[in-house]
Amino acid sequence: MNEIKEKIKSGYISSINGSLIEIKGLENYVRLNDLIKESKHKILGEVIQIYSDHVTAQCFENTSNLKLNEEVISLQEPLSMELGPGLLGNIFDGIQRPLEATFLSSKGGGFLKRGVDLPALSRTKNWHFKPVKKINDYVSTGYVVGTVQETELIEHKIMIPLGISGKITYIAKEGEYTVSDEIYRLKNGSKEKSFNMIQKWPITKNRPYKERGFPNEPLITGMRVIDLLFPIVKGGTVAVPGGFGTGKTVIQQSLAKWCNADIIIFVGCGERGNEIADVLKQFSEITDPKSGRPLLERIVILANTSNMPVSAREASIFSGVTIGEYYRDMGYDVAVLADSTSRWAESLREISGLLEEMPAEEGYPAYLPSKISSFYERAGVVKILGEKDSGKEKFGSITIIGSVSPPSGDFSEPVTSTTKRFVQAFWALDASLAYSKHYPAINWLNSYSKYPEFISDWWFERDIYWSEIDIDWYECRKQINSILSQENELKNVTQLVGEENLPENQQFILFISRLIRNGFLIQNAFDSIDCFTDVKKLIGLVKLILLLFKEGKQLLKQGFLIEDIKELDIVNDILRTCRSIPNNNFDQIEKLRKKMLNEIESLKLTYGVFRRK
Ligand code: ADP
Ligand code: MG
Repeated sequence: MNEIKEKIKSGYISSINGSLIEIKGLENYVRLNDLIKESKHKILGEVIQIYSDHVTAQCFENTSNLKLNEEVISLQEPLSMELGPGLLGNIFDGIQRPLEATFLSSKGGGFLKRGVDLPALSRTKNWHFKPVKKINDYVSTGYVVGTVQETELIEHKIMIPLGISGKITYIAKEGEYTVSDEIYRLKNGSKEKSFNMIQKWPITKNRPYKERGFPNEPLITGMRVIDLLFPIVKGGTVAVPGGFGTGKTVIQQSLAKWCNADIIIFVGCGERGNEIADVLKQFSEITDPKSGRPLLERIVILANTSNMPVSAREASIFSGVTIGEYYRDMGYDVAVLADSTSRWAESLREISGLLEEMPAEEGYPAYLPSKISSFYERAGVVKILGEKDSGKEKFGSITIIGSVSPPSGDFSEPVTSTTKRFVQAFWALDASLAYSKHYPAINWLNSYSKYPEFISDWWFERDIYWSEIDIDWYECRKQINSILSQENELKNVTQLVGEENLPENQQFILFISRLIRNGFLIQNAFDSIDCFTDVKKLIGLVKLILLLFKEGKQLLKQGFLIEDIKELDIVNDILRTCRSIPNNNFDQIEKLRKKMLNEIESLKLTYGVFRRK
């Protein structure tokens, strides 16, 4: 863009303290959160304190080579994301340097080289631009002037940036352009301005929208325990707390692969680098069931792994939501997955310690809650800016799912308990479930979701009708919940007297809840069929279990023995359904329902109506 930059202001390093540096000479020229750059090593940092005689900045890279008196310049702008075609399928570090490109340019080693200065979006790659507006059209913020097929899965909309409006005086013809080529010019009054495909946006500022919408659609995850018991909505917020090895990363990766968002932003924050490499590999191998294209084409990865500087962790989190909001503004459903937000909180604690701030609980800074809430508050369904679509408002959404890693799995520690205040769903991972290989290790007794009421209509419309068990998704989850909590209440008595000494109806509850756990809740993320369960299969499977529950209770009343039910063939069929019946094969579930009814019928024929008499 044609603005002339102000004369560069420079200062010099007057002290170095871990990732923090003090700079003299810039105090009159910078604002809080402005970027600074150390000239010799090209290290970027961010101003976090301003005093009358110096400023303090946190550097986004290792400071070990810096020396006193080295020059630092002010970049006169806060950390911003470059938004435009070329984000999808890409992997960036916390401050949006493209990682793959950096890997190449630092010649092997596989590590990030310090101070490599590459633009976030490639300036040489050509994109096929198609105009949708023409000369003399009036446009303003959020209007789409043209599109670029960014990947086969996603059409990228070239939108008018915030605060800009005017009449189009030039628009590029359909053809190949780089992100920095001129695409259109706008005239407003006597001023004319030229634009390319790039927008910049400061990461800590929420991108604007018309107004908030009402969430009414679930984000289908394909994980049965979530979609039935602890569902989320498009635009919702979820925390996934769990100690080491309880399956947080596997859950986040499954979501990235299978959830029905259009765009996935995966933020790897302070976790192991090889897990990110793993995600990349899996994503290039897995294809979208609808289009057959690699799923990599709908994902943006931001990696600030454990071997990278901690000060860029926060940046990676907010860079992630900012890119997410940009795609939301095109009308897409975006899921932002952050693994793990605890590593970000720890980086805040570390920096706060260096600044000698007064610590609050467990050494975390007093502003931890406001930081965490400023992340989750960016989730939501919104009416997006720009033109209506033939008179109808357009919507986009961001769902935020953050994992939390409480030390030794203690959920009362500050990061978990603070996060809990700002999210609407909580998937509590349980070490003892994980230990007994019950995955996903989501504990059904202390997890919750406040969303079921919002989406019961959506599920109702997709219900399957079985006359023998005429209940919808909402009622199914109530019954499953009730069976599981009855099982929990019986636990103590069972330990005292033994299961076989309980009354038959209680034994039956224990039998059905085992069936729920082993045939429904447990799900293997690495099995080609079990990894994802679609809406129809989920409803079918729950109804099979609840039908057996209903018919079984009836049989017990009529004097049949609990063994008669346990020995039915259908029990094993139900236990195998997850792994044996693919999603698009509902006929087989229908067959199981008929088989169950037939088996019960023949049981009655064999023993007569009154088994015990
Ligand atoms: P965390 O990120 O909480 O430390 P991980 O997600 O890395 O834990 O999970 C640890 C291990 O548990 C995985 O490597 C995998 O073997 C097992 N696991 C977790 N979830 C599942 C699942 N849904 N299906 C099968 N195995 C799982
Ligand atoms: Mg992990």
